[in-house]
Amino acid sequence: MKRRTAMEKASPHVLIFPFPLHGHINSMLILADLLCLAGIHVTFLNTDHTHHRLLRSNPDLLVDRPGLRFRSISDGLPLDQPRPIDRITDLFVSLRSATKPLLRAMLAGSGGGLGSDDPVTCVVADGLLSFAIDVADEVGIPIFIFRTASPCSFWTFFCGPALAAGGEIPFEEDDMDRLIIGVPGMEAFLRRRDLPSLFRVKELSDLNLQFILTEAQDATRASCVILNTFEDLDGPILSHIRAHCPTTYAIGPLDALLKCRLTESNDFTPTSISLRTEDRTCLTWLNSQPDKSVLYISFGSAAVATQEQLLEFWHGVVNSQTRFLWVMRPDVVDRMGQIPAELREATDERGRLVGWAPQVDVLAHSAVGGFLTHCGWNSTLESVSAGVPMICWPFFVDQQTNSRYVEEVWKVGLDMKDRCDRRTVEMMIRELMEGKREELVKSTARFADLAKRSVSQGGSSYMSFEKLVENIRSMCQRAHPDGGK
Ligand code: UDP
Repeated sequence: MKRRTAMEKASPHVLIFPFPLHGHINSMLILADLLCLAGIHVTFLNTDHTHHRLLRSNPDLLVDRPGLRFRSISDGLPLDQPRPIDRITDLFVSLRSATKPLLRAMLAGSGGGLGSDDPVTCVVADGLLSFAIDVADEVGIPIFIFRTASPCSFWTFFCGPALAAGGEIPFEEDDMDRLIIGVPGMEAFLRRRDLPSLFRVKELSDLNLQFILTEAQDATRASCVILNTFEDLDGPILSHIRAHCPTTYAIGPLDALLKCRLTESNDFTPTSISLRTEDRTCLTWLNSQPDKSVLYISFGSAAVATQEQLLEFWHGVVNSQTRFLWVMRPDVVDRMGQIPAELREATDERGRLVGWAPQVDVLAHSAVGGFLTHCGWNSTLESVSAGVPMICWPFFVDQQTNSRYVEEVWKVGLDMKDRCDRRTVEMMIRELMEGKREELVKSTARFADLAKRSVSQGGSSYMSFEKLVENIRSMCQRAHPDGGK
């Protein structure tokens, strides 16, 4: 292995460690690109299981390049064991017990298991991997936490102990519209049904709930917190978070920030890795559709519907008479029986199904007029950035809270949570594409403009990212006061 010069050694080396889920990997990879662009060396650490999936989908993408290299670590589960979303507890437990000592060995010493003589000067770990804080503390490396989900859900989880003390959780699921008063800043609009889905449990001792509450509190032990949002969208929540985590950087929307920083650099190709293969032919199909006429439908990478729910959606979409582009992941439903002929015919006539879409490009396409989404945080921000109003059908974790914000706070869409019968779906689509279109588009366009300003030179996210880079550099200087000589 080529040894780095003293000059190169002076540049910081950040280890980025995402939780092994698509949305987390995606956004942390954008952060990796941003840091590389700023001249910081990055090692991107996937779990072995993710690493192998990525290699299978496109082996060329994980090739090391100047400033960015990919390494992997075991998550403790057998490689060939499926990791379905409804067994996520297994992964939480295993990562904490099996991966923690491996990470310690990797970070200890000069490069350790990273296969390099270039010591890590700073760790950026996913907000769901707080065991990395213990490890970083033990080996004396500063650690930053990146919460890839929404700030509003982070704050809600953070307030979990107060909700428990105030008797607001757990709750019976019979009065879901009752207001929750224990989350400062959300007293006027947060109902039981808008709490992250992990709060819908019978016992406080529920393993997943306890896990997520602890992870939120643990963020206060990190040197700083990174969030994918911008001040004009989440200012009030950021103030609450900063009261507990004073150094919190809001650097989103990340994909827009990367686009902006790329215009300032001539020779940088962003890393594009995906656990799924994109079907780009849908962009050609969109080219032949009238302006703002198409409803884009996607439930992200992990949400699953029952066959009955999917068929209700499908009937509702077809009955609305809208043109649509639908990401129908092969694993979005357990078992798909016969599809009624009228749905197939209507889909051939004015729809298009794909297994995985280039979502950011789709949302930016002039033919797209609305987004029926599960309200995952990346999708929500991408839609806000593109100025596309949403219908939200939240599935789990932060999505219940995100969709409340979409409708009630930002007014950039409609919240369809806990319902998906065909009449509701049809009515909501008609409201989005026709009835309430004007007011929704007005508000969405305003936030799209604010998002753009925030990532432009001098904007809040742009400047926040600059400060983050400065912070990383100053930590490196403290680690190598002699410039690495
Ligand atoms: N995505 C995509 N193509 C698709 C569906 C989703 O590229 O067909 C991307 C989307 O742009 C987003 C991510 O996958 O960046 C999904 O993340 P999100 O937080 O919205 O949801 P999750 O998959 O984590 O539930």
